[in-house]
Amino acid sequence: MIENNITGALKNMAFELGIDFIGITNKSCFEDSDYTGNKPQDVMDDLQSVIVLGVSVPRGAFETLPKGRGEYTNTLMAATATLRIIAFQLAKLIEKEGYMATIAPSEGSEYGYWYANRETLKADLSFKYTAYRAGVGNFGMNHLLITKDFGPKVRMTAILTDAPLDTEEKTEMPFINDACSKCMKCIEICPVDALTSEGVIHREKCADYMFNVLGGLRCGLCIKVCPLNNF
Ligand code: SF4
Ligand code: SF4
Repeated sequence: MIENNITGALKNMAFELGIDFIGITNKSCFEDSDYTGNKPQDVMDDLQSVIVLGVSVPRGAFETLPKGRGEYTNTLMAATATLRIIAFQLAKLIEKEGYMATIAPSEGSEYGYWYANRETLKADLSFKYTAYRAGVGNFGMNHLLITKDFGPKVRMTAILTDAPLDTEEKTEMPFINDACSKCMKCIEICPVDALTSEGVIHREKCADYMFNVLGGLRCGLCIKVCPLNNF
């Protein structure tokens, strides 16, 4: 492992450029039985590590929903644009060290279907699972990552690389956040019953609502109501 050179330099650069959190996992976590997403090693044959980066989203984007759907959508895009630029700089740094890096698409809905497989509505890898395995947070009943500091009010991107980076896999957190069993607010507020108390998500209902009913604007209500953040 190379914590003291590439891994450390990547983290330093990422925070200097404005990220709020970072996590790194080894490719092996996508082979575990609890992972049901697409495998990033199907994109990069020699994949060794996945870096997930995130920024918190300004509180006003949620507070003004649902009237401010246009502003919310635009704010999410701004977060995504910010992450793309930062990830690009990190990918260049990795390649200066002689390895290969590419940035997984982060543009999409809360459930990442925009660039994803249109049948499964799943992206090339789960950023949320990657972040969970890196100890960044765990899952909520809204099927989003609940980060320790910002709850689900975050945007993320991921870099795939063949560099054997120092990983930070931690498994002490429960898969589902403990607070969810006494809350269920996200399930109650969903206008199309895309979320269930059994932990099921009907991605197609969420996708249909945002792309057909809202004309491409994002919904975000299941994030707005979540009490788990420190804002
Ligand atoms: S509340 Fe909105 S964003 Fe959340 S699952 Fe339901 S339709 Fe999708
Ligand atoms: S709104 Fe409540 S049930 Fe839903 S993810 Fe947040 S804490 Fe969990």
